[in-house]
Amino acid sequence: CGIVGIVGSDAVAERLVDALKRLEYRGYDSAGVATLRNGVLDRRRAEGKLVNLARRLAETPLMGSTGIAHTRWATHGAPTETNAHPHFADGIAIVHNGIIENFAEIKQELAAEGVLFQTQTDTEVAGQLLAKFIRQGLAPREAMQAMLRRVTGAYALAVIFKDLPETIMAARNGPPLAIGHGQGEMYLGSDAIALAPFTNEITYLADGDWAVLTPHGVEIFDIEGRALARPRTTSMAAA
Ligand code: GLU
Repeated sequence: CGIVGIVGSDAVAERLVDALKRLEYRGYDSAGVATLRNGVLDRRRAEGKLVNLARRLAETPLMGSTGIAHTRWATHGAPTETNAHPHFADGIAIVHNGIIENFAEIKQELAAEGVLFQTQTDTEVAGQLLAKFIRQGLAPREAMQAMLRRVTGAYALAVIFKDLPETIMAARNGPPLAIGHGQGEMYLGSDAIALAPFTNEITYLADGDWAVLTPHGVEIFDIEGRALARPRTTSMAAA
């Protein structure tokens, strides 16, 4: 029910969890964080309150300067640690708010091709579809676009790729998604309040937009891959 992401220059896991705390008001049943470090994706997840996730991270820290995090309000699949986001699928990690309406049909198709699903979520289906397009040889941006063309429903989502350092991809169709501009860092959040400790310079994605964030800025596209200019605004949210 909440998404945050940071693509930066320093370890991000703790800052991601702090940002998730600012989204607690939206409600959630579990939470998780994934980072990318030297071509390796790793994650920590926990049922229940964010203190549980924070404890996991204290016990077994997560390094890496690119990361995504999530608080989940389960719609498909029980609120267990296994079903908590981020979901992994063959070299990608994904977090998602909302519902992928046509997940059952895509899941059946992928399962018939031999894909093994680890969770009961609709979200993992989007992740496995993306992973399939990468295996087929599409570049990450092409794969992202192909996945977005196929899924229907309401979503805000964020993805990191094992083989794409210092990059987060994000998409919005329904639930809001704000992009924060920093100094040598970029941020992603369900709202500007989550990002207020980092920056007040915000670009909102519109429905149907998808974006590529690196430490140096953001590129925004429509579903056809055409570059879009979205305004940068100064948020009044207090840190
Ligand atoms: N539909 C997804 C799930 O059940 C995302 C729920 C959410 O918005 O947190 O895992």
